[in-house]
Amino acid sequence: MIGVVGGGIAGLAAAYRLQQRGHDVQVFEAAPQLGGLAATYETPGDDIEQFYHHLSKSEETIVDLAEELGVGDRIEWRVGTNGYYVDGVVHPLDTPWEILAYPHMSLYDKFRLGMLTQGVDVRGGLPDFDAYDDLSEYEHVTVREFVEEHTTTSVYENFVDPLLDGKYGDRKDDISAAWFLGRVRFRGERDLLRGEILGYFDGGFGVLLDALVDAVGRENITTNAPVTDLTVEDGQVNSLTVDYDGTEAVPGADAEETHEVDAAVVATMPNVLESLTGFPCEIDFQGAICGLVTMEESLLDTYWLNVAHDAPFGALIEHTNFVERERYGGDHLLYVASYVQDETEDLWQLDDDEVRERWLTEIESMFPDFDRAAVSEFRIARNPRAAPIYECGYLDLVVPYQLDEEVGEGVYYAGMASEAQYPERSLNGGVVAGYEVADRIDAQVGARTDE
Ligand SMILES: Cc1cc2nc3c(=O)[nH]c(=O)nc-3n(C[C@H](O)[C@H](O)[C@H](O)COP(=O)(O)OP(=O)(O)OC[C@H]3O[C@@H](n4cnc5c(N)ncnc54)[C@H](O)[C@@H]3O)c2cc1C
Repeated sequence: MIGVVGGGIAGLAAAYRLQQRGHDVQVFEAAPQLGGLAATYETPGDDIEQFYHHLSKSEETIVDLAEELGVGDRIEWRVGTNGYYVDGVVHPLDTPWEILAYPHMSLYDKFRLGMLTQGVDVRGGLPDFDAYDDLSEYEHVTVREFVEEHTTTSVYENFVDPLLDGKYGDRKDDISAAWFLGRVRFRGERDLLRGEILGYFDGGFGVLLDALVDAVGRENITTNAPVTDLTVEDGQVNSLTVDYDGTEAVPGADAEETHEVDAAVVATMPNVLESLTGFPCEIDFQGAICGLVTMEESLLDTYWLNVAHDAPFGALIEHTNFVERERYGGDHLLYVASYVQDETEDLWQLDDDEVRERWLTEIESMFPDFDRAAVSEFRIARNPRAAPIYECGYLDLVVPYQLDEEVGEGVYYAGMASEAQYPERSLNGGVVAGYEVADRIDAQVGARTDE
C-alpha cells in the first residue's frame, strides 16, 4: 500500500494518479474535513471556500483534471473586476479609460507598467517579447530593483510598493522579482473592455474536491487521522503511524495504528515533513487571517479591492460581485484578507472577536455608508502557513519530490514547499505536485516489483 499524508488537493491528486497507475492507496488526513486550504463553509446555497479562491486562465492541469473527473463543464470563466483604494477613493482599474483616468500615476508610468504586465520589455527602444519568459532569471533580483529598472521608480513607489506591503509587510524587500512576474502572469488574462478573466466552479471548488474524493473512493481516505511517524529501516520506508488518540470520529480505532507501506507521500506543509522524517526546510511561511462577512447590503462595486494605506487588511474581496449572490441564498459575501509575516504580529495575537472589531471599524472609516447592522455573520479562518515567503534564492530551498537519499527510499514530498508551487502557490500547483510524485513512485515501485 502507498500511504498519503494529507488530504488537501495535492494528497488527493497524488492518490488519484497512483490509483490510475494501479496502486493501492490510503490517504490519511489529520482534520475532520478534507481539502486543506481549499476547505469550505456552508451557506444557505452553495458551499464557499474559507479562503478566497479562483483559477487563472494559464492553469491547465487542474482544468484537465476537472475534465477527467466529469466536472470540467462546471468551470465558469468570469470577469473579476479590480479596484485600488487610495486616499479615501475607490479607483476602478478594469477598462483602458479607467486606467487612463487613474490620477496617481503619469501617462508614461502607465505605459511602462502596462508593457510590463503584457510581458514586454521596452527598455532600450526595441520591444523584447521574450524577456520575462524564464522566471528563474529573476530569482536573485528583488521586486523593487526589478520594477525600478524595468519601469520607473514612481511606478514602484506609487503602485507596486503599497501592494507588496499589504501582502508581505516587513518582508517586502526580500521578495524576488520571479514571484512578482509569476503573479503578473497568474493575474494577466484580461478582457480588454471588461477586466480580468478568472475561473470558478459552479458550486465552488468543493465540486472538484468532491469529484476527486469520489474518484479516489471514500473507503481509501481516513479523516481525523494525523500521521505522527514514518519508519525508515535499512534505507527504505516501511510503515506509517496514525495517532487516533481515541478519537470519537473513528469508532473502535486504536489510539495508535501502524500501517505497512511500500512508499509514503507527504502532502503537507514542510514542518510536518520535518517532524515525521527530520528533513529540514528553510522556507519561511506567512500566515493568513481571512474573514467571510455575510451581509444584507453590498459594500463594493468591484470583486477585488486592493487597499493602498496601512489598513489591518490588504484587500477586500466581494465574492458576490464575481459570482451571483442568488447562489448563496441571496446574501452578499465579502472576504477580508490579511497576511502576517510572523506570529508575533499584533493582528495574529488578537482573538477572533478583536479581529472582527478592528476590521469592521476600519471598513466603517473607509466607507461611511457601511452599516455593521447589515452584517449577519462573520466567520474567520486562520492558517499559520498560508503561503511561502518567496524571497530571493527561493529555488535553492524547495523540497525535492523524491527524498531517497535525504530520508530513505520510498519517501516523497508533494506539499507547498515543492517546486510545482513556484513562483506562486495554487491549487493547480498542488495537482501538479501530486502528479509529479505519483509518476516517480510508479516508476520506482513498478521497477521494484519487476525485480
Ligand atoms: C488566503 C488564500 C488564498 C488562496 N487563493 C488561491 C487562489 O485564488 N487560487 C488557487 O489556485 N490557490 C489559492 N490558494 C492556495 C491553495 O489553497 C493551496 O495552494 C492549496 O490548497 C495547497 O494544497 P496542498 O494540498 O498542498 O496543502 P493543504 O491544502 O495545506 O493540505 C495539506 C493537508 O495536510 C493535512 N495534514 C497536516 N499534517 C498532517 C498529518 N500529520 N497527518 C495527516 N494530515 C496532515 C492538513 O490538515 C491539510 O488538510 C490560496 C490559499 C490561501 C491561504
